[in-house]
Formats: sequence, structure tokens, C-alpha cells
Amino acid sequence: MESNFQIIKSRPEIDASNLKEDMLLEQIPWADILEERINQNSGSLNMCHEALDIHIGTDVENKTAIRFVGKLWPNNSNDIKDISYSELLSQTKAVSCALFELGLSKGDALFSLSPRLPESYIIALASLRAGIVYSPLFSVFGPEPIQARMNKGNANALFTLASIYHKKIAPIRDSLKSLTCLIILDDDGSAQNIPDHIDFMYLLKRTFENSSEIMTCPDDLALLHFTSGTTGTPKGAMHVHAAVIYHQISGKWALDFKSDDIFWCTADPGWVTGTSYGIISPLCNGVTLIIDEAEFNARRWYDILQFFRVSNWYSAPTALRMLMRAGEDLPHEFDLSSVRIASSVGEPLNPEVIWWAQKNLGIHLHDNWWQTETGGIMISNFSSMNIRPGSMGKPLPGIDVKLVNSIDGSLEFINAPNTQGQIAIKKGWPSMFRGYLGENERYLKCFSGEWYLSGDLAKKDKDGYFWFVGRADDVIKSSGHLIGPFEVESVLMEHPSVLEAAVIGIPDSMVGEIVKGYIVLKKDFQASEDLRLEILAHARKNLGVSVAPKLISFIDNLPKTRSGKIMRRLLKARELGLPEGDLSMLETN
Ligand code: ATP
Ligand code: MG
Repeated sequence: MESNFQIIKSRPEIDASNLKEDMLLEQIPWADILEERINQNSGSLNMCHEALDIHIGTDVENKTAIRFVGKLWPNNSNDIKDISYSELLSQTKAVSCALFELGLSKGDALFSLSPRLPESYIIALASLRAGIVYSPLFSVFGPEPIQARMNKGNANALFTLASIYHKKIAPIRDSLKSLTCLIILDDDGSAQNIPDHIDFMYLLKRTFENSSEIMTCPDDLALLHFTSGTTGTPKGAMHVHAAVIYHQISGKWALDFKSDDIFWCTADPGWVTGTSYGIISPLCNGVTLIIDEAEFNARRWYDILQFFRVSNWYSAPTALRMLMRAGEDLPHEFDLSSVRIASSVGEPLNPEVIWWAQKNLGIHLHDNWWQTETGGIMISNFSSMNIRPGSMGKPLPGIDVKLVNSIDGSLEFINAPNTQGQIAIKKGWPSMFRGYLGENERYLKCFSGEWYLSGDLAKKDKDGYFWFVGRADDVIKSSGHLIGPFEVESVLMEHPSVLEAAVIGIPDSMVGEIVKGYIVLKKDFQASEDLRLEILAHARKNLGVSVAPKLISFIDNLPKTRSGKIMRRLLKARELGLPEGDLSMLETN
């Protein structure tokens, strides 16, 4: 791990006012901060209110909140739509009132199945404003995962597009037992064929004279997010309105939001990142959000960064590796100098990707770590700190992270540097999840006394940087060694031919498990026996014989979740001929 790391020094031009290294150990009085934000007359606190209403009467009111980039852009340069903070608030209020008129009430659940469109952001905010629990789903889901999640979450309302309805909801509508309210955005003129629905445009036209009243309390449920399903069947993590305190401040600290930022979060709103940091946190911080309707395309992404002068960019390792796949020449056609800070989440960020981005994009990537359950960023490489490529960074202020061994229900804290343990976080941060939907026992098992146990393993170096080792489920036990897949994958990626790598353990009667690597090659390389041996030798030289893979297979694409995470469990099941388990999150394109 850090023995051979090179430091990327923080840049002198970075304004460190949002978070400085010496603030990391400050005690953060979360209860007092929460108390200050609660409306003193009504006792209310509401995510939408903190994202929109608070800006009225300030400089932010008339600024652009959402800059929507339609899929016809750049061929049609007019396919851009700006919505100011005050317009977004008016539209949100109208829809929020209309939701009550439709018979929904506080505590009901509204699911959304929509691509990245301004309307899906409005419905999310309106739902939160009304105290209706908002649950986003990936619009690319097929009928079955939609049905399972909506029935598990007792969905009372659904927002979707007419085109999506016909394909995915019509076949299962009768089985959606609690659904009373279907809201349709008529994207293709086919809504007239949909029985019993309400047109979204009608909601937008409602009046909202008496809508300023907010009725949610800090502990009221706000969001229901299904986890990515990387390790098994997705869990429904429940979050409350108090989480907004942390969304706001962690965005400022970890993503370095500044008032004039043009911020682009590339995560789909069907995933927790697309809500916490794709909607709520940036709006709370008064920045301008870029929303791109189109699917990934490397040229388009560079074009967006350049044309819209994106200053703050939040993406994921998979997306960054897809940019790598498109080659080194393409980015040099673009001026990406507007990007002040770029961050990454969702998977370990291999040092190779960091070096590539620095060389070819002129961009410094800042990794950060969190989970659906934590609701917000816990560990980060914030903008003013030195980066150690391959490290997730340091815990944010007010976040007490320790490495532990959990033995028969009691915890052993690990203090020695560079020693592996499970990431545990002390309870009490505002965005901590408050339950797994319908799985209370599973929820309780995540805690040991005052500590939340994340299920991820890491090491901490003597300077307090955390280094991801792997998910507890993915760690390989071979000849008495515990091998973290991330370290092995990162070394494989250092070979000039390797674009992506995933490593698993295959049961073996002699050594416990044998390390096997799957490799996706860069576009100019062909799989061959010579290349396989060369990569094996490269791994042995850099990792030593006991840790390096013994087996290597070339593969066209790694199986990934729709949020871009490598599904190592699926590689293993396929390798061993075992059942493949829950595939609802498998990316199928
Ligand atoms: P499931 O819990 O259903 O198996 P999941 O854990 O992938 O799915 P998420 O909550 O979306 O669902 O992802 C959180 C996980 O992603 C973390 O526990 C960690 O394993 C991984 N992760 C996120 N960010 C990073 C990072 N910066 N470095 C390493 N791993 C990360
Ligand atoms: Mg998880």
C-alpha cells in the first residue's frame, strides 16, 4: 500500500477556507447544529426547505439552480433549459400542493422511475417538501425489480414517463397493491392510452398560496434508497429529514462547494449519490447543477466540461475508466481548465486512474468513501489536502472512524498503523440510516454498541490516511494471507495493456483460495498467451508470489451494477458454476 505511494501536493491556488487539515479533529456538536436549523415556532425541518426556501431573499434566489442539457445538444444548441432557484421553488410548491390534493399525505411513499429530466428533480423536491417518502429507482430497471421494490416499500404513488409506463408498469400494474396515484409525464404523446393517471403538467399548474407550511420533523422519514446490490439482494435504507444538515455541510467540506460553482454530478438519481449529492447537497449550497439527459459518451462528456465551464465535477471510477478507454488523444482536443475540483466515489479509485487524469485531463481526482447507509461522505480527500493516490483520504470533521475486529459481538479497536480492520463509525452523525425496510434484525446487526459496522475493510497509515482493502465478502484467504482485491487490481492496472481488472478467490484444498484475475484490455491490445504470461510476471514482480494472481482470464466486459460497481460475487458464481443470486442491479448493456 503506501510504501511506494507518491504524494500529489495540494495546489497553492486552492482556497482552503471550506476545510483545512487542522479542522479535522474538531468536535462537531451535531445536536446543536440541528437545533439551530429547526424552525423554532413549528419544530419542523425539511430537506426541500433547506435546499430551496432558504435561498429566497438572498443572492441565490435568481441564480440558475438547474442547467438542463438535453440529449439533442450539441447538435441542437437550443436544447438547454435553465431553471432559477425561485422558479424551481415555485414549481416544487405547486407540485407539492397538488400531491396533497391527489389524496397523498405525510408518510406515504412516492417512487420515481424517470431518466435525468428536470421534472424528476421537481417531483423529488416536491415529495420531500410534502413529507412524502421519496424513493428513486433506476429508469432502466425491468418490470420485476420495479415490482419487488414498490411492493416492499408500499408505494402509494409513482412518477414515470408514458413511454416507460407502457413497457414496464402496464404489465405489473395490477400487482402494485398500494398504488393509488400514477403521475405521468407525457414524453411521447401516448399518455391518453394510460388508464387512471394524472398528467404531470397539470400538477405544475396548481396554485400554492397556502403552501409555505412545512410539516416534517427532523426524525420523519424522507428517503428510501435501495443499496447497489453488489454483495446480494439490495436493502432498502431509510433516511430522515435531519440528514439534510449533513448533506449541506459534507458537500461544502468534501466537494468544496463555492458559491459560483458549476457542479456536475454524473450519478443517476436512481442511486443514492444522485440524490444526496446530485440534488440536495448542491442546492443547499446554492450552486448551479448541470443535468445531462444523454447516456455516457466520452466526447460529449469532455464537451460538457468545456462548454458549460464545469468547475466542480463528481463522478465514479467506472466512468473515469470509460474515459480512459476512449484514449489519450480525445481529451487533448478540449480545454478542461475550468475544472477546479473533481471527486470520485462508489468504488476504489486505482492510482493508475489518478495519474492518467492528471496527465491527460490536467485534473486532480479526489476519492471519497461512503455508503447508502451512511447517507453522506464519511472519508475524503478534500480539496486542500495532499493526495496519496490509492487512499480514500481522511474522515470528515465530526465523523469518528475506527478500524475494528468484531469478535463474538465485542469490538477490538485496532490502533497499530497499516493493520487491516473493518471500518466502524461512531453513531450520531445526522445522515445515518435509520433502518432497513422490513429487515429490522439485519439493521440491528450492523451495530455493536455505539458503533456502526460498515462491512468494508481498510488500513490506516501513521498519518491518518485510510486505504481501502476490500469488502469483507471479497477478501481472499490464501496460504495464511488475507489478500484485498483492490491492491491486486491496482497493480494489474499498472500494466500498460490493462484497462480494468477484477480479482476473486477460487477455493483450493491446498492453500484455501487461489487468486484469479479477470482483465479487460485497452483497445489497442489483443489477448494472447504471451500477454497473459507477461501480466502474470508483472503482478508477481510487484506483489510477490503469495499475493499475485496465479490465474488470469481475459474478458470483454466485467459484470457491473447499474451504479457501476464490479460484481465480484457474480464472477465467482460463474467461475464455480453456482447460482448467480439477485441480478436486478446487473448492468445489461
Ligand atoms: P450492497 O450493500 O447491496 O451489496 P453496495 O454496498 O455496493 O451494495 P452502495 O451503498 O451503493 O451499495 O455502495 C457502498 C459501497 O461501495 C461501500 O461499502 C464500498 O464497498 C464501496 N465504495 C464506495 N466508495 C468507495 C471508495 N471510495 N473506495 C472503495 N470502495 C468504495
Ligand atoms: Mg453495501
